[in-house]
Amino acid sequence: MLIKDSLDEMKKREVSLKVIKSIIDNDGRDYLYDLTGLSGGFLATEEDLNLLETYIGPAIFEEKLQILGKEHLGGEKIFAVNRTSSGILATILTIAKEDSYVVHFLPEFPAHPSIPRSASLVGANYLEFEDINKFIANFPENTSLVVITPSTMDHKILDEEEFKTTIDLAKDKNIPVLVDDASGARLRTAIFSQKKATELGADLVVTSTDKLMMGPRGGLMAGKEDLIDEIKTKSHQFGLEAQPPSILAMVKGLENYNENDLKKSLAKKDELMDLLANDFEMFEKTPTGIMVSENNLKDEIIFSLKKDKSNFNETSLDKFSNKDFCFIWAMLLLKEEHIVTIPAVSMPGASATVRFDLAANDVDRMDIDILYKRINNSFKKLLNVLKSEKIAKNILFSFN
Ligand SMILES: *Cc1c(COP(=O)(O)O)cnc(C)c1O
Repeated sequence: MLIKDSLDEMKKREVSLKVIKSIIDNDGRDYLYDLTGLSGGFLATEEDLNLLETYIGPAIFEEKLQILGKEHLGGEKIFAVNRTSSGILATILTIAKEDSYVVHFLPEFPAHPSIPRSASLVGANYLEFEDINKFIANFPENTSLVVITPSTMDHKILDEEEFKTTIDLAKDKNIPVLVDDASGARLRTAIFSQKKATELGADLVVTSTDKLMMGPRGGLMAGKEDLIDEIKTKSHQFGLEAQPPSILAMVKGLENYNENDLKKSLAKKDELMDLLANDFEMFEKTPTGIMVSENNLKDEIIFSLKKDKSNFNETSLDKFSNKDFCFIWAMLLLKEEHIVTIPAVSMPGASATVRFDLAANDVDRMDIDILYKRINNSFKKLLNVLKSEKIAKNILFSFN
């Protein structure tokens, strides 16, 4: 295993950021293709930025945020937080009780680490389910908060009926429901025509303003006014709230959001998938792009190496974990092909699935044929790199 812990993940991320900077310095922004779908963005006019310097600006952005936020998420009140994780932490700090249960339902593991980590901070027990029958059968009496993630980090989407069932179950027991709709607030509604979480009865929802929209890394919360007020108070105590520059960028991102742009990515996804299906088994479609899971990547690597040489011995790969394969491939995509995917730049603990998000802005500058060739090339390089642990380490941890 080359990436052993959060520290290694952080070091890998530092290398990635250096590589990104050098590509931009040497070739220009147009030669970097950010396909993370976490495009971020800071849309602001000169006038907006001037306002930011005074106390008037934040007051204006705050009012706009309430209006646009409610259009986007529904609910009675909006509150902007530093990240989705901050909104989850603030909610758990406010609502979850020591020794009680925080119960999390999602259509497919893994859960976002901020949920169990926050529960553990307040001394709450944490349970997670991906099977609705198990969720219902094992639901503990002493539950203080239900969290539902209807669109996972890997963009697995919960069926709307099941979503409603899980919300109703908690409501019958008078337990508050937080929906982690980081990507879902747009993905579920634009691509799957599902309802907003608040329309389905959720008390609270948090979404990530840089997922599938041109906003800053940040979290936007909505929900029942009394709960939002308590969460807001708690957030101010710990510095979890978003600051005015982020709020401005959130407002601009919300103004700019158009669900038709998301729908357009569907055609490109099909085109790319058709090309790749000629050479690979490992790709799966996601709602807005394609992805390769840890296990599929490993299977494809083994299959390809065996095809290459009949005497290939699988034990030669034992020094790598399944996640390592994803991280090394993501670093090659970045260093060699100038394509940014999440495993190259992710925060520790995030999913290692390699996703190519075709709703990303940079796709507009990219021919699907060229993207196909770059993906193909990088996989061939990956097979080569895996022959040597030393080279693989270099790819992960060294800038040159
Ligand atoms: C991205 C994501 C988060 C965390 O968002 P941050 O902005 O990194 O805090 C939480 N939950 C899910 C389901 C996500 O996809």
